[in-house]
Amino acid sequence: MAENIGIKRKSGQVKDGKWLVLTESTGEPGVGFRHSCGAEIMAQQVARPIWDGPFPLSGSGRCSYEKVPYCPQCEEIPNYHGAPITPRS
Ligand SMILES: [Zn+2]
Repeated sequence: MAENIGIKRKSGQVKDGKWLVLTESTGEPGVGFRHSCGAEIMAQQVARPIWDGPFPLSGSGRCSYEKVPYCPQCEEIPNYHGAPITPRS
């Protein structure tokens, strides 16, 4: 089977403080979600380095871990090394 070259949406997007993909899905936490396309929502754990040092791109090396929901059919698999978090002061 040919490789799927369709353009997938970037996963892990947030809308109004909620996971965008979950706003398009039906289901309940703990039971499971199903996307509007019919695929089951998957979750990928990602690690986000926390850059809380005094200089840009510096920090203590701590990471924040979280599960990012995504639709395997419509979205890219979330990158394990997720986007850095810069704490607000
Ligand atoms: Zn989908």
